[in-house]
Amino acid sequence: MLPRYLMNFELSHLKTFYSDFLVVGSGIAGLYTSLKLLSLGEVTILTKNKLTESNTEYAQGGIAVALGDKDSPHLHMEDTLKAGANFCDPKAVEVLVNEGPKCVEELIEMGTKFDKIEGKFKTTLEAAHQRPRILHAQGDATGAEIERSLSEKVKNEKTIKINENVLVIDILTKNNICYGILTMDNQTGKLAAFIAKFIILASGGLGQLFSNTTNPEVATGDGIALAYRAGATIANLEFIQFHPTGLYHKGSPKFLISESVRGEGAILLNTKKERFMPSYHPLLELAPRDIVARAITDQMKRTKSRYVFLDATSIKEKFSKRFPTIYKYCKEIGIDPEKEYIPVAPAAHYTMGGIKTDTWGQTNLTNLFACGECSSTGVHGANRLASNSLLEGLVFGNRISQKINEKLIRHPMKKIKKIEIYCQASRLLSKEFNSAKIRKELQELMWDKVGIIRTFKGLTEAQKKIDNWKSFLLREFSSIEQVELANLITLADLVTKSALERKESRGAHYRQDFPERDDANWKKSIEY
Ligand SMILES: Cc1cc2nc3c(=O)[nH]c(=O)nc-3n(C[C@H](O)[C@H](O)[C@H](O)COP(=O)(O)OP(=O)(O)OC[C@H]3O[C@@H](n4cnc5c(N)ncnc54)[C@H](O)[C@@H]3O)c2cc1C
Repeated sequence: MLPRYLMNFELSHLKTFYSDFLVVGSGIAGLYTSLKLLSLGEVTILTKNKLTESNTEYAQGGIAVALGDKDSPHLHMEDTLKAGANFCDPKAVEVLVNEGPKCVEELIEMGTKFDKIEGKFKTTLEAAHQRPRILHAQGDATGAEIERSLSEKVKNEKTIKINENVLVIDILTKNNICYGILTMDNQTGKLAAFIAKFIILASGGLGQLFSNTTNPEVATGDGIALAYRAGATIANLEFIQFHPTGLYHKGSPKFLISESVRGEGAILLNTKKERFMPSYHPLLELAPRDIVARAITDQMKRTKSRYVFLDATSIKEKFSKRFPTIYKYCKEIGIDPEKEYIPVAPAAHYTMGGIKTDTWGQTNLTNLFACGECSSTGVHGANRLASNSLLEGLVFGNRISQKINEKLIRHPMKKIKKIEIYCQASRLLSKEFNSAKIRKELQELMWDKVGIIRTFKGLTEAQKKIDNWKSFLLREFSSIEQVELANLITLADLVTKSALERKESRGAHYRQDFPERDDANWKKSIEY
């Protein structure tokens, strides 16, 4: 049996900090929720790197929202449900599309500046959207602009305490009630405890579980793993979205070439310079992401190549102006997207499943909420519609603040009582181990066997190796690298188990041995 906590500790011996609300993570979900909670009490933000380092920071395309008279929440809902492969929770989608416009307005009031033309918001089209409804900032730097505006705002608020470079290790619980969290200072390695009335996990996705990913190093899914250890229900982790167009460049991480490049007219060619999407889907390059990712994988196999090409040479607006971030990055590695084809290959991009919540962000554990990419609200189903995730962070962050407000009206905040929590598990001797090497092997295994195309044989092989690695979870951990590895092993186990269990293909989960969708038997969540 694995110890409940990753580290041994005794709460009464730890330096302890108190506040009303703890928010784990400083992407769009964490920062926006903190600002919404501000009027209700003192907020403490804990984040394991610098404040802006997050998936949000790298979001390019934009935020999907139904504004203007040619669009409506109803059309947005239709598109979301369709992309989700008959697996979204319609109630959650309704909340997302109806409450999205108000939350985006508020984001703008908080200081986010979206691109405009002649005083009106400029919108673009992305795959599987019926309308051009994607708001963007500085062309393709939407996430960075959101992080800029929200981080500036939280820094100016006296009742928000910001703790950077603090790694959240575990949630402190007793009888399924959450009291606080156990943390480690990344610089000193010192453990501490943070105690609060409510804990909000906004800790992002797990892209780093795969060797090819568009996600930054921090995206190790810690929040999902630690919620699991605490007894929270984790749902639908087999649904991992693989983005079709990560930049293929040997030796560098997969930089994203946003879908909006295809939205503006770029087309996909194989290495023989043949356009191939017409043979796969009537929506061509703007078919849902899972379909485009599999088509590219198929073409790479047929042409024995590690990439295909994205031809953006004929899009109307000047590439350097419309996509300045992508243009700059491509130029740095010697590609001019205005004149040359961009080599691209799929990469792990987004975690559709996660910590199960209701439409108010509540988990099954008392006082624990989750929002943003670490949560499973049901809005994305088996396949997230492009640009819906930034919106999800806002809408459900807002709902969490409403729910907490309601709870406080009913039961006003009391002084937090002292509680004794400890872990004294026997652990394997803490012999040094090469966590970087194991992380790399695990990432490669997940990409090869639990990636875009899955089979029983591949998944079983992966599960065997992961089972061996699980013995690491009995060790003592003393660094951020080791804690992240422990979380990645936990998540690899959950993703692989769920992928083995789901004997059908749906959205982003594709089983070669069960290639059809099976609504009669599998229109149900897989939960651990
Ligand atoms: C390259 C790229 C482009 C994208 N483009 C778009 C787009 O155009 N539109 C769209 O809607 N979505 C896009 N996405 C997806 C979207 O950016 C994310 O889903 C969204 O930003 C998630 O926000 P979040 O707040 O939930 O998590 P994140 O923004 O990932 O924030 C998570 C935070 O938690 C912190 N954290 C994690 N673990 C711990 C721990 N143990 N202790 C303390 N802190 C911790 C992290 O450091 C980080 O601050 C893109 C993603 C990527 C990677």
